[in-house]
Amino acid sequence: MEKYVYLFTELDEAEAAVGGDWDAVRGLLGGKGANLADMTRLGVPVPPGFTGTTRACNAYLARGGEFPEGYWEQEIVALEALEEATGKRFGDPSTPLLLSCRSGAKRSMPGMMDTVLNLGLNDEITEGLAGSTGDARFAYDLYRRLLHMFGSVVLNIPDHPFEQVLDQRRAHVGAKLDADLDAEDWKAVVEAYKGVVRTFSGAEFPSDPREQLRRATEAVFRSWNGKRAVDYRNASGIPHDLGTAVNVQTMVFGNIGEGSATGVCMSRDGTTGEPHLEGDYLENAQGEDVVAGVRATDPISVLLERNPAVYGELREIARKLEAHYRNMQDMEFTIERGKLWVLQTRDGKRTAEAEVRIAVDMANEELISREEALLRVSPEQVDVFLHPKLDPRAVGGVKPLAKGLAVSPGAAVGQVFFDADTAERMGKEGRSVVLVRPDTKPDDVHGMLAAKGILTSRGGRTSHAALVARQFGKPAVVGVTDMEIDLVARTFETDGTVVEEGDWISLDGTRGLVYEGELATVVADLDNPYLAALLSWADDIRRLGVRANADYPRDAERARTYGAEGIGLCRTEHMFFEADRLPLIQNMIMAKDHVEQDAALAALLPLQRGDFDGLFRVMDGLPVIIRLIDPPLHEFLPAHDQLVRDLADLKVRLQHFHTLSEIDTALEELHTKQRYLERVDALAEANPMLGTRGVRLGMLIPGLVRMQVRAIFEAACRCKRDGVDVRPEVMIPLVSHVGELRAMLATLEEEAKATMAKQALEVPYKFGTMIEIPRAAVTAGELASVAEFFSFGTNDLTQTTFGISRDDAEKGFLVEYLRRGVLSRNPFETIDAEGVGRLMQWAVQEGKAVRPDLEVGICGEHGGDPASIHLCHKLGLDYVSCSPFRVPIARLSAAHAALGKATNG
Ligand code: PEP
Ligand code: MG
Repeated sequence: MEKYVYLFTELDEAEAAVGGDWDAVRGLLGGKGANLADMTRLGVPVPPGFTGTTRACNAYLARGGEFPEGYWEQEIVALEALEEATGKRFGDPSTPLLLSCRSGAKRSMPGMMDTVLNLGLNDEITEGLAGSTGDARFAYDLYRRLLHMFGSVVLNIPDHPFEQVLDQRRAHVGAKLDADLDAEDWKAVVEAYKGVVRTFSGAEFPSDPREQLRRATEAVFRSWNGKRAVDYRNASGIPHDLGTAVNVQTMVFGNIGEGSATGVCMSRDGTTGEPHLEGDYLENAQGEDVVAGVRATDPISVLLERNPAVYGELREIARKLEAHYRNMQDMEFTIERGKLWVLQTRDGKRTAEAEVRIAVDMANEELISREEALLRVSPEQVDVFLHPKLDPRAVGGVKPLAKGLAVSPGAAVGQVFFDADTAERMGKEGRSVVLVRPDTKPDDVHGMLAAKGILTSRGGRTSHAALVARQFGKPAVVGVTDMEIDLVARTFETDGTVVEEGDWISLDGTRGLVYEGELATVVADLDNPYLAALLSWADDIRRLGVRANADYPRDAERARTYGAEGIGLCRTEHMFFEADRLPLIQNMIMAKDHVEQDAALAALLPLQRGDFDGLFRVMDGLPVIIRLIDPPLHEFLPAHDQLVRDLADLKVRLQHFHTLSEIDTALEELHTKQRYLERVDALAEANPMLGTRGVRLGMLIPGLVRMQVRAIFEAACRCKRDGVDVRPEVMIPLVSHVGELRAMLATLEEEAKATMAKQALEVPYKFGTMIEIPRAAVTAGELASVAEFFSFGTNDLTQTTFGISRDDAEKGFLVEYLRRGVLSRNPFETIDAEGVGRLMQWAVQEGKAVRPDLEVGICGEHGGDPASIHLCHKLGLDYVSCSPFRVPIARLSAAHAALGKATNG
């Protein structure tokens, strides 16, 4: 006959029955049952008990609600073994054994837990228990709990009649809490509960303990097909044929007077990860009292003072369980008259900081390997270290004002300002600023730098606001479509709340949430030695290099301290937007002839040289990829509409001027604006992202890129002279045809060589191209015959492959696509493996076939996305490049990829 019932002491038999596999044991005994038996075998003091198998449950259900043959007899034999083990008897008023009966499926199913406690009581036994314990209140309290739980779980009686009884009793004696009720009160409640059972079930509460046990067991089996359980399984994809086990266990009591207690405790500190016990306990109480928070608990350290022996035992058990499960444990325990019992253990929940420390400590303790330590920490947990975040205690229960795209993590708390100049001014005054804009443009950068955080109503994941915010590590929420910004009234409104300039708001850039007011934050810890150790292990394992996207020496410095192995992208145009440069580049664009143009370029040269000089020095010994100018030129000029407005305004004002000099100045301004407008109109394109930008600009204005190359090599020679190991790599953006590359490279190589010859110095360098257009990927073999390196610009490559705008898609149809599941991931966040990824794969193969030492990397935003990093590893890229703040995440993700960790990407 099949063995359906296993004592907690019979784990070996259960293992043998399923062939030794632990997963199969959990399948047979359920997670809870398997764990209780496992702890019993380890020698942990678990109250004796037994488990009826999931197979018994399935057989019971298949037989239409009848135990399979031999089941009940096996349960009785197991019950007798419990009596033997405890020296108590089920149904004996002088030494009553009380039992709990609980469900326990293979996978935990919150909300379906059916539990009946204190089985084995009736009038006579309760009276006996009151006598033997000398505590009638205790005995009748247990009895009323049994009546209530049996009533609801076994007899399906709703809770409210029971609650009504209790309310009436409390009102009757003027008690606020259950703790204020005495033995007589509970006796009265018991009598009333029996009445409830009689009324609702049409029968008396069964006074025979064995009948109670049988019916509780059946109720647990039946609960597998209860609505709650079926719904839960449907929602979480748990198969319906697993069945639940039933766990019958001896009751132990933490509320049986002096020397008794109950509590929860973690084997290490769940907040910091420190290797000491952390937890709460409550003397003379039951588990529910700890959870309900009716009485203030004591920290577990109090137990050390009050009962060092039990504390020591608990610490030993924690160690033993950690060694066994190789993870931090969260345990429930009860102390019954000085005797410690463990009722449950599971892997404990913890903060990111604790996760890292525990993983590193456990590897150092040789409990787990370094690889396993790495795999335990997620990239998101590393991210948490790098940004201050809103204090969870401050956020609890506060409703966000609005939600947008979470594009740059961390918390920003500050006063709202609506334009970059004001933001900068307020920042200088020492105020905390949140810059709020419909969207941002390159000439808002000074305001963004001055701000603690950035909030925009428009824009997507690769919008200017998002890119710059990530680059500078500024928390940002963009694309908050519900937010109505009124730049004239200087307010924004969302969901009926109006926020005025100067009001405080708090941004959660990790979740994309906006809160009203000034919420508290907790500070990031960058110097955490455990994180440093973990990341150094990651470096030992990863194959992918990690570089940073950085334009300024200070970003490069940060990137280097975070572990970057070079710069993968310096966007040179960002420097042109600085206040002292913009007029110069505008002069260049507005030049009437070559003479004027050359003069403007000559003025820019020393400034660019200074920029590169700084980068080379910070990145001493490491490669620095400098990309030649990329955006369309009109971005450097004032907006068309603004110019038209200014002109109209000037014309009106002109009529009111009286002095000749006033009129002269105004006329001159009018003339300049007119010229600008003409130039802007001349440069206007219907589709600027597909227009004159990237390499195409270099083709049309070779002087501009020649100047950039000269600046690069002059800076490189100067650094080399100072003993710096410089490795410039010059990158050409937006190439689609090898012809473009050939034409550009000839000029640029010539410029580089001439510059070095003039300096009488040689520096090692490379010329390469971005791959941002499908045609470039498809013809990668041809490009590799000219280029020495490739860098995938996956922001543009995603845009051009899908044919969707990186600026607009995320605030429009893409949201709908994601909501409806047309796309499973946002392709601007995680590389679309089947489309963009295939192009990349082709390009790597073709490119390396032509030039085996071709260096291939990625510098789009995807370079800091864990799932995309896994793809880059698989495709055989040499490195990923991401914003400095994502460098530590990329180091860990690259190690995960090397360890073959699966991602959901
Ligand atoms: C890209 O397109 O992926 C890229 C890195 O260039 P940018 O974002 O500057 O266009
Ligand atoms: Mg690009």
